[in-house]
Amino acid sequence: MNYETVIGLEVHVELATNSKIFCSCSAHSFGTDPNEHVCPACCGMPGMLPVVNKRVVDFGMKAGMMLNCDINRVTTFDKKSYYYPDLPAAYQTTQWFAPVAVNGLVEIETSKGKKGVRIKQIHMEEDAGKLVHDIREDTTHVDFNRTSVPLIEIVSQPDLSSAEEVEAYLERLKTLLRYAKVAECEMAHGTMRCDVNLSVRPEGSDKLGVRAEMKNMNSIEAIKRAIEYETARHIDAIENGTEVLRQETRRWDDIKGKSYAMRTKETAGDYRYFPDPNVMPVVIDDEWFDSVKDSLPEFPEVKREKYISLGLSEYDATRLADSIAIAECFEDAFKVCNNAKEAANWVISDVTRVLNAKGMTYEQLTLSGKALGELINLVLDSKVSRANAKKILDALFEDESLDPVKYAEENDLVMSNDTGLVDKVIAEVIASDPKAVADFKGGKEKAIMALFGKCMKQLKGNVDPQTLRTMLIEAINKL
Ligand SMILES: [Zn+2]
Repeated sequence: MNYETVIGLEVHVELATNSKIFCSCSAHSFGTDPNEHVCPACCGMPGMLPVVNKRVVDFGMKAGMMLNCDINRVTTFDKKSYYYPDLPAAYQTTQWFAPVAVNGLVEIETSKGKKGVRIKQIHMEEDAGKLVHDIREDTTHVDFNRTSVPLIEIVSQPDLSSAEEVEAYLERLKTLLRYAKVAECEMAHGTMRCDVNLSVRPEGSDKLGVRAEMKNMNSIEAIKRAIEYETARHIDAIENGTEVLRQETRRWDDIKGKSYAMRTKETAGDYRYFPDPNVMPVVIDDEWFDSVKDSLPEFPEVKREKYISLGLSEYDATRLADSIAIAECFEDAFKVCNNAKEAANWVISDVTRVLNAKGMTYEQLTLSGKALGELINLVLDSKVSRANAKKILDALFEDESLDPVKYAEENDLVMSNDTGLVDKVIAEVIASDPKAVADFKGGKEKAIMALFGKCMKQLKGNVDPQTLRTMLIEAINKL
């Protein structure tokens, strides 16, 4: 019998706000000591009163709009009760009855074509703290810096059916949320986390199988492995009766390549959701709604079409539009140099080369597109050679405030228009290496390279390579 896998995802994304969701503590604790960014509100002290951070609602709405959701104009917060040492209030403030966004749709593309994935809802909530296990002292510490850091949870309908589709969906979420600048979405940093709900049923059946929820996957590769393992486990259980499937939460161990039962899955009733009486309902009026809608970016597809209309290939246009950081760098550079092909080439090959060498992602790019455009102009105006322009690009990565024109002048990287100087250097080099000259004249074409290299070195790269080559050959032929 053939089986199909039915997958729904719950994706937690940390919102990139400065402060926490219900207090003014900093939401960024990277590099700080434990429990430095805490106050009575985020530590759940009795009598504390949370105040909703407007920016969190802005970002929640923006995320909802990017994923084609309807926005609930009255959105409310609820208490989700559970006890765990990293949750000081013994409940999590989340949204259950009226989440900020509902009924969305995300389009994905895989080798099988395009497909829509329905979004059930997006709700805003607070993160929990972190438990730090100290093996030497056989004790566990708790760090509340992450407590109340704002999250959105994006809940999809069970519309996904393979690891490939899950990967395409997660990549699409990342692209859209990064475009809206509401989140970093970096699984390795924990700013995007994903729980996978999976069941298996005979192909064609409309009845869902027994569902397992998998946690603890911290890369897309791990998620793909977990889906493949879990699908095989379910089919084995159904076909061979190797085990009785239960609705449960399972932990994925990526090193062992296995999933383990953690607990039987809680139902909503276990959490005793009820409206949080301390948090006022948030009413989104037309003015607020419109201001968020007006702040939405162009979608990647719109940018891609725009780039194609500038004369770029579909491949280049797609590469640029895939990342908002790269797209903006390209657009800013293009505004200055007005040459789409050059700007695209510089961004796709040279900027990417430097990023790769530094082990940086596109999202970490801080290079000013304007400065890149000025650098491209220096090349197009034959003021700086391409080789030297690459050196200036490296310098721009070290110091974002650098002015490429000034830098070129101060560091002797401006091309010489002085053909007299080039002639002089060529004459000296020819005189210094009669063997290479004789070899070249005797038909060894490669011999020119040594002479060319010496000239280039003496001219500090400040000459157009093609011009130098032509002048050098002419000089030898005149001998
Ligand atoms: Zn606080």
